[in-house]
Amino acid sequence: MKPLLLDTPPDEWNFEGTQAFRARQIREWVYEHGVLDFPEMTNLPANLRQDLEDQWQIRPMEIARVQGSEDTTRKFLFRLHDGQLIESVLIPANPGSDGTRATRMTLCVSSQVGCALGCKFCASGLDGLKRNLSPGEIVGQVLLARIEAGRRIDNLVFMGMGEPLANLPNLLPALDTILSPDGLGIGARHITLSTSGLVPRILELARHPAQLRLAISLHGSDDRTRERIMPINDRYPIAELLKACETFVKERRKIITFEYILIRGINDDLGQASLLARQASKLRAKVNLIPYNQVDGLDWERPPLKHIEAFRKRVEKGGAKVTVRMEKGHDIDAACGQLRLRHAKEVSANQIPIK
Ligand code: SF4
Repeated sequence: MKPLLLDTPPDEWNFEGTQAFRARQIREWVYEHGVLDFPEMTNLPANLRQDLEDQWQIRPMEIARVQGSEDTTRKFLFRLHDGQLIESVLIPANPGSDGTRATRMTLCVSSQVGCALGCKFCASGLDGLKRNLSPGEIVGQVLLARIEAGRRIDNLVFMGMGEPLANLPNLLPALDTILSPDGLGIGARHITLSTSGLVPRILELARHPAQLRLAISLHGSDDRTRERIMPINDRYPIAELLKACETFVKERRKIITFEYILIRGINDDLGQASLLARQASKLRAKVNLIPYNQVDGLDWERPPLKHIEAFRKRVEKGGAKVTVRMEKGHDIDAACGQLRLRHAKEVSANQIPIK
């Protein structure tokens, strides 16, 4: 198989036997104009286009399926070279009901095929980890979503399939391309990495020069509750995780976010809310409450609205900044991993994908 061009940060592109300005021209075609086929790079000599075509692969994946439409939450199912499936979700902010365009676009990006961490609420973990994504497969999601959206992507959240910090050796070069003005040129402040709490990797990230944002999937404020939801808590209990968060906040001087999925009867009692408020206010962390999204194959439920509001109020009263985020795209399988699983089921039942 030909090497994937997007695996290399653009400022390191070097095409043997060509002059340096050719690399700049190719960078512009790929990252400015979203052209992913050498034959379309019309300012390159025809023989060079053919040579490059023979040696390199630009397109990192193909679109297997799209759900949603312009200015609604749009979910992409991508098929990688080895047939594995991943997904990315494009979320517009404030699109007008009169057809005016969204003011901002956020892309939820995957970092692995499947996931080894097996959080109990998550469809991505049901199949285990298949493999890590390469840097180019991470960058490619953003590039293809940008081409499909026909506009720039403003924010990235690594909350798709996989644990991004478990794939740090590939994620860091991907971030180099994403941050680089020669690449996608998205500022670090607009990039959030979400982790289930890999303590050593959080500490590594605290030393990284870029001002990336960090979101912690907490989902329980004492070990007993969190262990029921997140098996990783066995390895890195809450006290250790909070200490790593404290280091990150001190080193990076960044506000972190605690993500907390509210599951009826599992982690939604008000005692958890009080404890969560204490933990968050000590670190000046923001709390994001996410009422549970039903997953096929799991019997957990979303708490009633009245109870969600009582939980929110208790966290707020405890001195923490708190918001409730109703999952966008509830109707298009927005919880991570669900579209891929459904697609796999349909394909195995010989149904044809819609794109
Ligand atoms: S929530 Fe994230 S870390 Fe947990 S199993 Fe799902 S993809 Fe993995």
